[in-house]
Amino acid sequence: MASRVLAQGDVCTRCGADVVPIVYGFPADDAFEQVEAGKIVLGGCVMNPLAPDFACPTKGCPGA
Ligand SMILES: [Zn+2]
Repeated sequence: MASRVLAQGDVCTRCGADVVPIVYGFPADDAFEQVEAGKIVLGGCVMNPLAPDFACPTKGCPGA
């Protein structure tokens, strides 16, 4: 199946979880708490203009 870019309000096509924003760059102090709470995903320090804005928050999900 071809992957597509997820947007706010979408759900993961594999596990059905609500997608969450991907935060790029150096994470804020509370970022890891938000990751644990499934509210954001850390995208690292990539500088890719094609990088997606949203992703599945489920750890280990092949669609993440
Ligand atoms: Zn998923």
